[in-house]
Amino acid sequence: MTGTIARFTLEGVKDADVTVYPFATEDGLGLELTRFLRAESDDVVLLVHGLTSASDVFIMPEHRNLASHLLDNGYTDVWALDFRMSGRYPYDTETHRFTLDDVALYDFPAALRVLRRQVGDRRIHVIAHCLGAVSFTMSLFGGAVGGIASLTCNSVSLTPRVPAFSRLKLTFGPNLMEYVVGLPFIDPRFGDAPFLTRAWMVSRLISLFHNECKERACHIQSFQWGAGRPAMYEHENLLPVTHARMADLCCASGLHYYRHVRKMINAGNAVKYDPKDDRYDALPDDYLSNAAEIETPLLLLAPERNKVFSDSNNHFHRILEKAAPGRHELAVLPGYGHLDPLIGKNSHLDVFPRIVDFIKRHGA
Ligand SMILES: [Zn+2]
Repeated sequence: MTGTIARFTLEGVKDADVTVYPFATEDGLGLELTRFLRAESDDVVLLVHGLTSASDVFIMPEHRNLASHLLDNGYTDVWALDFRMSGRYPYDTETHRFTLDDVALYDFPAALRVLRRQVGDRRIHVIAHCLGAVSFTMSLFGGAVGGIASLTCNSVSLTPRVPAFSRLKLTFGPNLMEYVVGLPFIDPRFGDAPFLTRAWMVSRLISLFHNECKERACHIQSFQWGAGRPAMYEHENLLPVTHARMADLCCASGLHYYRHVRKMINAGNAVKYDPKDDRYDALPDDYLSNAAEIETPLLLLAPERNKVFSDSNNHFHRILEKAAPGRHELAVLPGYGHLDPLIGKNSHLDVFPRIVDFIKRHGA
């Protein structure tokens, strides 16, 4: 079915005026916000994707997507951000040394300045996924952004935890890929690489361990992201068309971010990549240090079958309960994996209503 749905299509959101707002970060990257507007409203929602994905995971035409669900439920001004991790840009496959500190310090503050210029002081609710959720929470807890009415994080936030096999891959994977295999990124499309090239060999080697389906992109996603067959989602939660176009939704990604994640896992929670680098002086060395003072309520979505960031959000909720009892919420999602809460065929029944309910209680 790949090819029947155009890449980066905006067709999944109906009856909305779509406007793209390009902007630049202070460290010189061009990024974009896409606004889906039916009517101006007191509560504005900003959607933040993860590493390897893009705003596309919120606007897929083949299922009832989150942007449409919000528009239909009274949140008539929805914005989707593509920041430096987005698969819509070349940044991730170029040689780079970006860390999550760069995202927290440069991307979200710049995006929110653009957003604020358009929506004034109306309430902004943020829904973030994966490393987008980690870095947005870093930005919020680190004081780089503020005035957020509510924040929903899917899968993970300030305390990344991963299965044992992933720890092993995080320890050796980036150097193995960069120095031994000679590729600075990993791409679900390696399966389409020419015969006997390095990318082809990486793909065939990975597929030896994955008999669960016939999609090489799905196998590579599992290898890239977690410990499971598959690791990113539960197959039964996806429409076949979504599974078949996984390489459109989750693209190539650079390996350096994994080094920062590894540092956080070793530290037990989000920490600055290099505390000695004075470019990041505005950010705390330890992002949990003032958790008690953060007044923005968090909804932590904890997929029960999370084979990428395991019980990260359950763990973070316990920490937050000690820091600020009763302020933040945990929603366990039975039967869901890491990404399917957003891209699943029944997400609009099982997951999105819980987000809307949370935003409603912290909005107008
Ligand atoms: Zn699969």
